[in-house]
Amino acid sequence: MAEFSNKEVSEIVSSFIKNNLQRGVAVAAICQALEAKGASPQAAKALVDSIASQYSEGTHRLGLVFDIVGDCNARCAWCVSGITGKGKVQKNFIDFNRFKQAIERLLAMDVLVAPPNRIITLYNWGEPLLHPRFYDILAFLNDHQFSINLSTNGSVPPKKVDPLLFSNVVYFGLSMPGFTQESYDRIHGFRMERILSNFDEWYQLLRQAHVSNRIFINFHLYKFTLRDDILKARDYFSRYPDVRFSPYAAYIADYTLVSQYLSGTMDADVLLKAEQELFLRPIADTVGKWDKDKKCPHIYNGLVLDESCNVVLCCAMSPSHPDYRIGSLFDLSLPEILREKANRQVCRECIELGVLYWHSNPYFLGDVKI
Ligand code: SF4
Ligand code: SF4
Repeated sequence: MAEFSNKEVSEIVSSFIKNNLQRGVAVAAICQALEAKGASPQAAKALVDSIASQYSEGTHRLGLVFDIVGDCNARCAWCVSGITGKGKVQKNFIDFNRFKQAIERLLAMDVLVAPPNRIITLYNWGEPLLHPRFYDILAFLNDHQFSINLSTNGSVPPKKVDPLLFSNVVYFGLSMPGFTQESYDRIHGFRMERILSNFDEWYQLLRQAHVSNRIFINFHLYKFTLRDDILKARDYFSRYPDVRFSPYAAYIADYTLVSQYLSGTMDADVLLKAEQELFLRPIADTVGKWDKDKKCPHIYNGLVLDESCNVVLCCAMSPSHPDYRIGSLFDLSLPEILREKANRQVCRECIELGVLYWHSNPYFLGDVKI
């Protein structure tokens, strides 16, 4: 490491953190750059850690998740939205003016990553396309140079709008629970034919916006998913040459249920059903090997807001959990948010049990050859 002075590294760290990347991503990128120049991984990390810590005050940058809709019209049995809502939409939408105020407040607080890496994820527990002012939200975000992540169950077709409204979409995921009507009846509760037709409309629109290469088919595998259905789905979507087909094991999207499963306190009937439907064994086998001294990146690098502008502990936390809400975005400063997030007892539990590990490592089935 002789060839780098602290000042030089400080300048590199500063340029990454201030201008472009979130802190965690920047640190990883800088470590790689230093290692490529001959530093040992330990030396690079120690140096970067010591200097990057100087940027935790005043220049801290957060990635943003904003759940603009608080519920979902699907009724997935292993997702907290599906379990509580059972497919019924209660119209928990954020008011458009409130949304604008929230974004303007965040910009005034100067806590978000600068463009072009200023990304907003418009979903967490809800279906974003159900928002009645969805297109106005998109236009507003475009005006403020946000790149946009979207994920949908495909139940809402696009409106006839200017495709360029979607130019800043950097990720568009379609979640599918299988490729038969039986799978749809069992999980989402939609007509699959309708979903495929909606998807085609979305594809045509996103193609005109030149972002169709950012579409992912997130194909959830259950134990009842037939190998033939995976193959049929893969073949079906191969008609869209730039779309990526991404099969992975469905998992439990509810902090409480996951922690019950990992701590062996899950209700016996629920456990039986989970073991019948989900690929749980690989997680149970690997979670014990995970490094329990890890720091959670969600605490310092991400800001999660729900449809009521509550600052939420993290995207893994279920709305019914007592540690879900930190406070209102309109009442908190950045240091208060970070301090509150850093002091939650539930985080120790989450790391000890491996909920964080599970949440961060969706299981791609290596043994399903497609
Ligand atoms: S998994 Fe997705 S589609 Fe299913 S209920 Fe939850 S949010 Fe809706
Ligand atoms: S440790 Fe777990 S509960 Fe805490 S912020 Fe991270 S993911 Fe959320």
